Amino acid sequence: MNDGHLQVARVLHGTTAEGPGLRSAVWFQGCSIQCKGCINPHLFNPRGGTRTPIAEIVDQAVAAGVEGLTLIGGEPFDQPASGAALAKAAQERGLGVIAFSGYEYESLLGRDDVTKAFLAATDLLVDGPYEARNPETRRALVGSSNQRFIHLTKRYKAYKPEVVTNRIDVRVRPNGSIDVAGFLDADGLKDLLQTTESSRAIRGRQA
Ligand code: SF4
Repeated sequence: MNDGHLQVARVLHGTTAEGPGLRSAVWFQGCSIQCKGCINPHLFNPRGGTRTPIAEIVDQAVAAGVEGLTLIGGEPFDQPASGAALAKAAQERGLGVIAFSGYEYESLLGRDDVTKAFLAATDLLVDGPYEARNPETRRALVGSSNQRFIHLTKRYKAYKPEVVTNRIDVRVRPNGSIDVAGFLDADGLKDLLQTTESSRAIRGRQA
C-alpha cells in the first residue's frame, strides 16, 4: 500500500555514478531475493531504513538539477505501490527513471496492477538477480552477465553500458560517515573502505 512514503535506506542527489547524466540515486530498503554474494546484505531487512515522503525525494531531486532517478536497492519491486508513486511523480516533473530489479521483467509483467504501473513509469529497467558465478566483465552498472538492460521507453536508448566506464562517488560527511555510490564488487568495496579509512586517518593527523 502506498501512503505517500517509501522505506528508504538512503538517497544521494547529484551523482554521476548511477547511470547516464547527473542522477539522484534512491536505495530501497528490503530485499526478498537475497542473492548469494550481494554486497548490500544490510539492505535485506524491510524494517530497516527510514520511512521517507515520496514528494520530498522528488522535490530534492528537482532542486539538485538532476536528469533523473536511479532506483536501486534492496529491491525496488518489493515496494511496488510506493515505487510506482515515486517513478510517476518523478516523470511528471520531467525526470527520467531507471529501476533495477533482481526479478526478471517477464515475472514482473505477470504481477499485479501496481507492479505494472511501476513498470509503466520506468524508462529503463535493469533486471535479473546477481549471479556471482557469472561476473560481468564488459558492461557498466551490472555485476553479472545475466542482467539485462530493457528499454521501456526511448529516453535512454543512446546509453550503451558496454562503452561506459563504471564510476565511483565517495563522499565523507561532516560527521565522518562515508557515502559510496557506483558499482563495486566485494573486493573493490573492501579496498575502497581501507583506502578511505587511511585518508581519514591522515587528515586527522594533519588537523
Ligand atoms: S536483488 Fe540486488 S539487493 Fe537483492 S540480493 Fe540481489 S543483488 Fe542484492
